Amino acid sequence: MKERIFKWLLVTGFLFCLHITDILTVYANERPLADVSMQGVKADLPDNLKENIPELKRGPENSGRDPQQPIDLRILQQRYPDIFFLQGPADQKRVALTFDDGPDPRFSNGVLDVLKQYNVPATFFVLGSKAVANPQIVKRMQSEGHVIGNHTYAHPNLVKESGLGTLEREVTRTEDALNDIIGYRTKLFRPPYGFLYNELVEKLRKMNYYVIAWSVDSLDWKEDPPEVIASRVVDNIQPGAIILMHDGAEPGRDRTNTIESLRQIIPKLQEQGYEFVTVPELLNIPFKK
Ligand SMILES: [Zn+2]
Repeated sequence: MKERIFKWLLVTGFLFCLHITDILTVYANERPLADVSMQGVKADLPDNLKENIPELKRGPENSGRDPQQPIDLRILQQRYPDIFFLQGPADQKRVALTFDDGPDPRFSNGVLDVLKQYNVPATFFVLGSKAVANPQIVKRMQSEGHVIGNHTYAHPNLVKESGLGTLEREVTRTEDALNDIIGYRTKLFRPPYGFLYNELVEKLRKMNYYVIAWSVDSLDWKEDPPEVIASRVVDNIQPGAIILMHDGAEPGRDRTNTIESLRQIIPKLQEQGYEFVTVPELLNIPFKK
């Protein structure tokens, strides 16, 4: 009888242990599984939508060990304060407008027209592939006093493609293409989707780049009415802000509301005493190699 009870206890104990292991496995996987499912959501979205899904909720504990996950931009800024920027100094009422994913023959000239009308400089993070296809727009940006930065050649997700090799290829190819058009090698880089991890930032440092993120996201890719885009910027502005907008779009998408929103954003912020400057002016950094 004693033996039977002992066997029963042994089997029950064993089953209990199995269950505990299951529970522990589920909890241990909870965070990575949640992250993977987020990535799945992103993978199904068009590029211009994926770009602006904020990556600011992940804790620092994930950041060091899993190179397949993008790291929170604020954490990267704290890790690499000499080359990674979210915004400029807060002691002066200066802000920088930035535009990604152009040059786009459908929308970039409209953006440039408004900037010219208000005599406001901006910073354009261009794609090498689009610069090669539309060099005259890049030349117009340069001749009207704007600064050009590197946004890769084909807009890859550098984290997903695990890529030191991809990064180097994409950045160098764009740098060469831009050099042929504007006559200098830019030092400014903005990662597609804001996705980076430590090794990629360190590689960019070796390639003599500054990484320029943003502090105010217009979410203009949502194509909300111009007044909604404008108030999203104006309501969240602070001295030193770097404002993220887009002059380029995927086929079938539209940036007309971005252009119209600028007609509200620029005069409203000027009324509040803000001055618009380029990113290198705001950060007081060189932009040519
Ligand atoms: Zn982009």
